[in-house]
Amino acid sequence: MSEANCPGCGLATDYCVCRWARPHQTQARLALLLHPNEPARPSNTARLIRQVLPDSSWHLWARKQPPAELLQRLKQPHIQPWLIFPADRPELAERAHPWQPPAAGKTALFILPDGTWKEVRKLLRQSPWLDDIPILAFDPPQRSRYTLRRNPDADHLCTAEVATALLQLTGEPGAANDLDRLLDRFLSHYHAWQHHQPVPDRS
Ligand SMILES: [Zn+2]
Repeated sequence: MSEANCPGCGLATDYCVCRWARPHQTQARLALLLHPNEPARPSNTARLIRQVLPDSSWHLWARKQPPAELLQRLKQPHIQPWLIFPADRPELAERAHPWQPPAAGKTALFILPDGTWKEVRKLLRQSPWLDDIPILAFDPPQRSRYTLRRNPDADHLCTAEVATALLQLTGEPGAANDLDRLLDRFLSHYHAWQHHQPVPDRS
């Protein structure tokens, strides 16, 4: 990503979508666990999550050094963590549990790994500190609209879409809708930028 890109949304500054971001406070918290390749990608949608959910946290993953701040948080007794990852293998299926709202005084914390499919799988394999965290069993409803990256997993949802589904699941439709709308705008601006087209309507 070049210096001319907006640090808020990652797009070239002329195509910036930050002004449409509406911040929300939510009960559940999100911890984004980014593969080291991810922050430099202008197609990264975790930036949008940060704008709509300013209380979300951002952790850079490293194989040899688990993110200290996140580990610290996981030790707090009021935190009820969930790992967001498809439980598509038998050993993972055993760890999958349906959503249950946290008990009074507790806070749900969703750990959302971010990267390509391959990177996220690797990240999970190499993070034994995530082994004890239950995987959230949920089926995001829609097929992805996200087509910025050509990869064999074109159907799998981008990070902002997963976050939107989590917000719906936990009873935060306002935040979910705003994040969804921001992603729509991001996708159209990104497309215009990459194809050297004018900025879509500025209304
Ligand atoms: Zn921006």
